[in-house]
Amino acid sequence: MADYDVIVIGSGIGGLTSASLLSKRGLRVLVVEQNSAAGGLCNSILKNGYTFDIAASLFWGFGHGEVFHWLFSEFNILNDLLERESVIRKIEPGLQVILPNHRINIYSERNRLYEELKREFPSDMANLIKFYQESDKIEDEIYYLLNKGHFYSLKNHYPHENKRLKKFYTAISILLKRKKDILHLADKWVNPSEIEKFIDLQLIYFTHKKSADIPLPISSIILGIPKRGIYGIKGGARILTNTLEKQLIKYGGKITCNSTAEEIILKGSKACGVKVREGNSVGELKADWIISNTTFSNIEDSLIKKKRKKNQFSRINKEIGSGLVPFSVLLGVDEKVIPELMGEHAVMMRDYELPASGSNIIFISVSPGWDETRAPHGKRCITATCFLSQNEASKINWEMERENKTKEMIDNLEQLIPFISEFIDCAYSITPDDYQRMTLRRNGMLRSFSNQSDFYGFNSPSSKTPVRRLLMVGDEVFPGSGAAHTAKSGIRAAEVILKRI
Ligand SMILES: Cc1cc2nc3c(=O)[nH]c(=O)nc-3n(C[C@H](O)[C@H](O)[C@H](O)COP(=O)(O)OP(=O)(O)OC[C@H]3O[C@@H](n4cnc5c(N)ncnc54)[C@H](O)[C@@H]3O)c2cc1C
Repeated sequence: MADYDVIVIGSGIGGLTSASLLSKRGLRVLVVEQNSAAGGLCNSILKNGYTFDIAASLFWGFGHGEVFHWLFSEFNILNDLLERESVIRKIEPGLQVILPNHRINIYSERNRLYEELKREFPSDMANLIKFYQESDKIEDEIYYLLNKGHFYSLKNHYPHENKRLKKFYTAISILLKRKKDILHLADKWVNPSEIEKFIDLQLIYFTHKKSADIPLPISSIILGIPKRGIYGIKGGARILTNTLEKQLIKYGGKITCNSTAEEIILKGSKACGVKVREGNSVGELKADWIISNTTFSNIEDSLIKKKRKKNQFSRINKEIGSGLVPFSVLLGVDEKVIPELMGEHAVMMRDYELPASGSNIIFISVSPGWDETRAPHGKRCITATCFLSQNEASKINWEMERENKTKEMIDNLEQLIPFISEFIDCAYSITPDDYQRMTLRRNGMLRSFSNQSDFYGFNSPSSKTPVRRLLMVGDEVFPGSGAAHTAKSGIRAAEVILKRI
């Protein structure tokens, strides 16, 4: 008999979701994690009395019928998290879009958003309303079509209608729109360039891609995310990880940190175990199923040794292409310096003339005023991140440049938070090398979107792999990046296994 029913390599949100669900269904599950703590990119670090999120800090998927809502209902803890203890709270505005001459709050209610648009873009106001209405209609149609499985927000959406012909026409209508740019949904814009940047920044926040590079139906889904609700987590991202870890353990699953999977053992074309290193010793553990929460590059580079299988992973790897490399600065600041109108999450374009990439786009999160656990009294945490191309990032010697790059980021933040440098209590940075150490992603790279224009979402790889009994979860497989999406990938993998046993 195998040592475990399932071994999960990696404890990101994808891996922990599968592991906890499978434990609850009575399977013997082991999670191996190379880092000293679980969570991967969904984690927080404690420094100087501050709890800084290292990556994920804005969450979605907690609305009724959505993925975390469903997941935590499964574990019977939804009420505790959302209501009794208010650990998870909806935040308004969910996101702020900051352009050199505009600040737009993206509220969940469209009417409130329209008020913002009226103030910021009066001459394009009518067109923008039409744009959002059309986009919402397409989003609605997609959810109607996918009224099953993992698009939880669809459940009971159209309880009495399920007519095949209507579905067929809806599918055709979406198919015809797939190559269009979402900006074509409205007539001529008065300020096309500013409107384009405004829409692009919302899409970049969630997909790192501009409207011209995303199929229209996917853009509609992305623009709908704030409408369905953006949430903050009291105590930071690590609380989401801890919650899943607790469920895993409660139902008898195990997790070992500081343990690195070095090889996936194959018997013929089937996975049957993992070689795991703990310190200087390497042991072999057998399992009926392996779930990998690591990247396709790691599988190709080291985890699969058989040449023919390696080549198959190499093909998928090439298709995914290169991604973006994060650099983050973590600041503990006096809350006096935070402008009154500043929300908890913002995406800022510094200069219209520069390309919408690299250090011209900064992702900023501020710990919420209602979360006193995150910072000493009267202080707040700020995380500011920019994403660089692999080429750009590789030209920088991060250890030597760490201080300069941190200073550069703080200088850039002055545009949004004037005088910030005078109110900094402590400053840290996470370089691509640090991200790599914490997650084993090459340069900490995110690749869940790619150079190929229609990769994101429906065209991403599935959780099934060329090796039997080896499934992939995480943001390199469907439906893509973000904690909510990776949780969905985890549920899909768990379902594949549950169907087969
Ligand atoms: C800077 C930044 C900001 C972000 N902000 C947000 C946000 O605000 N909201 C949001 O929803 N998403 C955000 N994301 C994206 C989100 O964090 C990720 O998409 C998601 O957390 C990835 O989860 P995952 O399950 O794919 O794996 P990961 O988080 O990468 O976890 C994989 C785990 O597997 C472990 N592992 C890998 N290989 C091995 C091995 N061989 N042996 C043992 N363990 C191994 C790693 O150590 C790691 O713990 C952000 C990402 C970045 C980089």
